[in-house]
Amino acid sequence: MLNPSEIDALFDPDLPAPAHWEQQYPARQMPAGAEVTRFCPSPTGHAHIGGIHVAAIDSAIAHQSGGLYFVRIEDTDQAREVEGAVDRFDRAFRHFDVASDETDATGLYGPYTQSRRARIYQTYVRELMRQGRAYPCFATKDELEALRADQLAKKLPSGYYGQWAPWRDADDDAVRDQLAASVPYVVRFRSPGTDAGRIVFTDRIRGSIEMDDNRADTVILKTSDRPLRLPTYHLAHAVDDHLMGVTVVIRGDEWLSSVPVHHQLFDALGFPRIPYAHIAPLMKQEGKTRRKLSKRKDPEADVEFYAQAGYPTEAVLYYLRGLANGRLAEMPLDQALREPVRLEECGVTGALVDLAKLEDICANHVATLPGTTVLERVKEWAKAYDLPLAEVLQAEEGLALRAIAVERDGFDNPRKDLRMWSNFRTHYGFFFQQLFVPVADPADPRFGGLAPDVVQELSRRLLDRYQAIEDGDAWFNQIRAVSAELNFADSARTYKQNPDKYVGSIKEASQAIRVLLTGSTRSPALHLVAATLGEAEVRRRLDAVRTV
Ligand code: GLU
Repeated sequence: MLNPSEIDALFDPDLPAPAHWEQQYPARQMPAGAEVTRFCPSPTGHAHIGGIHVAAIDSAIAHQSGGLYFVRIEDTDQAREVEGAVDRFDRAFRHFDVASDETDATGLYGPYTQSRRARIYQTYVRELMRQGRAYPCFATKDELEALRADQLAKKLPSGYYGQWAPWRDADDDAVRDQLAASVPYVVRFRSPGTDAGRIVFTDRIRGSIEMDDNRADTVILKTSDRPLRLPTYHLAHAVDDHLMGVTVVIRGDEWLSSVPVHHQLFDALGFPRIPYAHIAPLMKQEGKTRRKLSKRKDPEADVEFYAQAGYPTEAVLYYLRGLANGRLAEMPLDQALREPVRLEECGVTGALVDLAKLEDICANHVATLPGTTVLERVKEWAKAYDLPLAEVLQAEEGLALRAIAVERDGFDNPRKDLRMWSNFRTHYGFFFQQLFVPVADPADPRFGGLAPDVVQELSRRLLDRYQAIEDGDAWFNQIRAVSAELNFADSARTYKQNPDKYVGSIKEASQAIRVLLTGSTRSPALHLVAATLGEAEVRRRLDAVRTV
C-alpha cells in the first residue's frame, strides 16, 4: 500500500477532511417519522414519464410524512450529457408538480448538481485510499477487455475480482512507477466480499431479499486524465445520500443488483445504511408481450408528449398514482391525490401504461371541471402550443364559455369530448368565426352524397324561415318542415321502408344542416349550437353554400 503522503499527493492539498463535510452538512432536524427523499435524473436526454412516476412517489412519501423531497442532478457521466436536458427536466418537474423543495438558492445541502460536488467525493475517495479500502488501477481498456474475454471463455461472472483484478494487490513499486510515468488511472473500491458470500436486506417495496454479495472492485473515481475528477454513481450515491440526509432511497429497480456494493461502500465509509425502495419500470403492452416503456420507441415515454397534447396534469398524476398503488386507482381523483402512497403497495412487476385508459380518466375528469377552469387551462396550454387559438380565446371569452357550457352545464351526462387541451380546437373550434371555414361547396363529401342542388335548397329554405327559437323541439321543427318540403322521409324507418319514394330521411337532412353549422358530421345538439352561435352567424353559415 502506498504511504499516506503518497496518497495525499494524488489529491489537491487543500482538500478538506471528511469532518469538514459532516460539519457543513449536519444531520437534518426533522420531526420523527419524516422522510427525506430525492429524485436524481441524469441529464442524458428527454425526461421519461417513468421518471415523473418515481419523482411523484418520492414527493408523496416525503410530503405525506412531513418530510422533504429534493432533486439532484446526476451529471457525472459528462460524455453522455445532452445540452438543454437540465432545463427540460426543470420544466417537466414544474409541469408535473414535482419540483424540488430545495434548490441551490434555498437549500443548505447543496450544490444539488453532482459535477459541482467533485471535492466532496474526492475527500471520501482519499479517505478510503488512506484506509486501504481503495486503490489506483491502471488497467487499460484493452486489458480489461482481455480479462473479460477470459472470464467469458471460462464461463465465469464478469467483473474485476480475484485473478482478474491485477491492481488490487499490485506491488507498491509497480504502482509508484505508473504514477511517476503519469499513466492515467481510476480508483477502485477494495471489495470485502467473498466468493460464496450472500447478503440479506429489506427493500421497502419488495420485503426481504437475499442475493450474492459483491466481490468485484468497482470503480469509484473516474480516470485521472480529465480535468474534473468525478466519481461514479456508486460512490456519489453513498456520499450524497448520506450527507444530504436522505432517509429512504427510492430508485429504479435496475439498481437492485447494486445494493451489495452500495452496502459495502456505506460500511467502508462509516455511513449508516439507508433503506432502499426499488420501483419497477413502467411497461408497454406490445401484442402479447410486455416490455419496458422505451424512450426510443414510444412517444408516450417522453414527458413532453403529455405537455404538448395537453393531458390535464392532475389526471396524469392521478393515473400514475393509481399505477403505483392500485388502491388509489379506485378512488376519485381529488381523494386519491390526497391519500398517502404506500411503498409496500408498489408493484414488483412493472405497471402497464395504457393511454386509452388515461384518456378516459382525463375525459371524465375534465367533465367535472367548471367551464371557467376548462377555459383557463385551454388558454394556458394554447399559449405554449397553439398561439392562434390562444388569441381567439382571449378575444372571445364569452363565446368560449358559452361553447364550453353546451351539453355540460346542467347535464347529468356532460359531454366528454375534451380528453386533452389539444382536443379543444377539434371539438370546439367551429364555434369561433376565426377558426371556422364555412362549407361553401354543396358537393362537399361531408354532405354524405346528397345532391348538391338539394343541399342548396335545404339551406335556402331554412334561411327563409329561420327563427332563433329557444325551445329545442320547436327549433328543430324548422328543419322538419323544410325537409318534408324537399321530400325527405320524416324518419329513417319510413325512408327504409320506401327508399324509392324519398330523397333521404330527416336524418340526412339534419346532418346536412349540421355540416353547414359546424363543418362536422358530429356535434352537440344542433339547437344548442345554433343558440351559442347566435342568429347572425347561423345565417352566415347556412348562406355559405348558396352563394357558390
Ligand atoms: N442517476 C440515477 C439514474 O438516473 C439515479 C438513480 C438513483 O435514484 O439513485 O438512474
